[in-house]
Amino acid sequence: MSVTRALPRLDADNRAFWTGGAEGELRIMRCRDCETFIHPPRPLCRSCLSENVSPEVVAGTGVVATYTVNYQKWHPAMEVPFVVARVALDGVPGVLLTTNIVGCPAEEVDVGDRVRVIFEQQDDVYLPLFERID
Ligand SMILES: [Zn+2]
Repeated sequence: MSVTRALPRLDADNRAFWTGGAEGELRIMRCRDCETFIHPPRPLCRSCLSENVSPEVVAGTGVVATYTVNYQKWHPAMEVPFVVARVALDGVPGVLLTTNIVGCPAEEVDVGDRVRVIFEQQDDVYLPLFERID
């Protein structure tokens, strides 16, 4: 399946997140002083304002917390319908990752579904998408 997605602009803060898929790793920024996870990646902890933050490799599994199904074809190359979901990642409290659920019909996705990350490479970016675990 090929879906045209808007690619993020890589910078020092978000590079670990967007390129971790090259090693099959989902990386979430974490404060080393208070252990809060920080997403989207920022150079400053949102909890204690520490600058002692660095990426941590997380499990890459989680649960669909909320989702919507998009039926609108925003441009000709877009395949519809597709699912936009917020995934609560295992072992990453406080973070909901906005992503797409792929690999199954959109109408089969539901809140509470167990999912795991897969990576879709586009140029030097590895988009973390999720598929259901049966
Ligand atoms: Zn902190």
